[in-house]
Amino acid sequence: MSRKREPQSVSLLILGAGGDLTRRLLIPGLASLLSEHEYDVQVIGAAREERTDAEWRALIRDSFSQVTHPENADRYLESARYITGDVTDAAHLRTLLEACDHTPVIYFALPPAVTVTVCAALRKVELPEGTRLALEKPFGTDLRSARALNRVIAQLVPEEQVFRIDHFLGMSMVLNILGLRFANQFFESVWDARRIERVEIIYDELLGLEGRGGYYDHAGALVDMLQSHLLEVLALVAMEQPPRLNEVELRSNAAQVLRATHVWDDDPVASSRRARYTAGKVGDRRLPSYADEEGVDPALNTETLAQITLEVDTARWRGVPFVLRSGKALGQYVTQVRVHMRPVPEIPGFGGAPEPDSIMLDLKSGAVELGVTMNGSGDPFGLERSMLVAKKEPGHLLPYGQVLQGIVEGDPLLSVRADMAEECWRIVAPVLRAWKKNEVPLEEYAAGSLGPKGW
Ligand code: NDP
Repeated sequence: MSRKREPQSVSLLILGAGGDLTRRLLIPGLASLLSEHEYDVQVIGAAREERTDAEWRALIRDSFSQVTHPENADRYLESARYITGDVTDAAHLRTLLEACDHTPVIYFALPPAVTVTVCAALRKVELPEGTRLALEKPFGTDLRSARALNRVIAQLVPEEQVFRIDHFLGMSMVLNILGLRFANQFFESVWDARRIERVEIIYDELLGLEGRGGYYDHAGALVDMLQSHLLEVLALVAMEQPPRLNEVELRSNAAQVLRATHVWDDDPVASSRRARYTAGKVGDRRLPSYADEEGVDPALNTETLAQITLEVDTARWRGVPFVLRSGKALGQYVTQVRVHMRPVPEIPGFGGAPEPDSIMLDLKSGAVELGVTMNGSGDPFGLERSMLVAKKEPGHLLPYGQVLQGIVEGDPLLSVRADMAEECWRIVAPVLRAWKKNEVPLEEYAAGSLGPKGW
């Protein structure tokens, strides 16, 4: 990031250090950060499972072997420690904090229910000055529980020391939305309801459950993806230009968008669709039907593909549908913001009506594609569709590395503020209620297909 604060020395205390998140995302993200930047970070792992310091250090070293400067690992390994125990116990939490050589960053890589218990236990513990808390999604399970958790957290540390993680906000390609919109004349001048007809924000995955059925079956695509990640992307697409790129201005403008956002026509039944996959082949991998996956209770009717249409009720956006969609086990990997412009009137004498322009931002590769109409190459008075494509080189920092950089530097710019987390639940609440009452049919699609017909 170009806007740097003074990095401080921190002790990153990972609660739930034996879990999937720690192994697959957190430690690799940390290695990508510490490979590129010199910070003073002590890495402490904590969980109930017995493990030695040497095993913990080996996990860290292994992640460093994947990054550009593996030799940097040595700086961090000596102080790295693993401490066994139950982190819901206040006395054990005190022991963990005493093991911290620097300002603690308590990272909750725990099941959400355990996070709530630990937050309550922390009230019995005196936290060192400046302690930061990093909380994973899902942040609560509905508006009420998110509010309750926010209240508990507010009693522990001030809001600027709380980092609600949304690793989408750590994806440099997602942050591209800001540069593209605010550092060019082209885009901002057409970025409103007069010129734009519809916006789609899509995250279609090839992956199925990957062994995480137990978690996913209680979340589903709506909570797992739309309620958190895609609404944060919507906020970046729709926000007013912040006067300064700092945590107060950017997050205030994002929160303003979320406050103005509601289900289209306030009709959750007409504005949402849901489906789940049946057996099929994704590439050369055969997937069983979702209902037959390990850890799944078919009676929960959990969706693996969700779509909702929203309106951002501001002067800039009123009347423009924002369609959010995400699904698993689909036949195409699509991570895009698609902006569809309104059609221009037909010019008599030109061959046919011009196709409306479009702007596509690829959230994974950072490519931007403009769909434009120009004179035909064969018939010069005919019209032809062309694509203007801009490509970007990916950076070295993994999304979790970017997010961790903010935490190490004490900069909450890329973390979700308390009110934003609550607004996200408020927006999807009517849809969740309608789905619970089965007012929206649960459709089906074969794994590896493009979803149910007509989506
Ligand atoms: P796991 O279930 O894999 O790991 C949870 C960890 O918590 C385990 O190490 C477990 O170890 C520990 N734990 C559970 N109860 C206690 C306890 N009472 N005291 C101490 N440790 C405990 O979960 P994940 O790693 O998958 O997820 C962690 C968080 O990250 C969740 O909130 C999840 O939603 C979020 N997340 C996960 C992602 C992923 O891809 N995995 C992606 C984005 C967010 P032990 O039993 O040894 O104590």
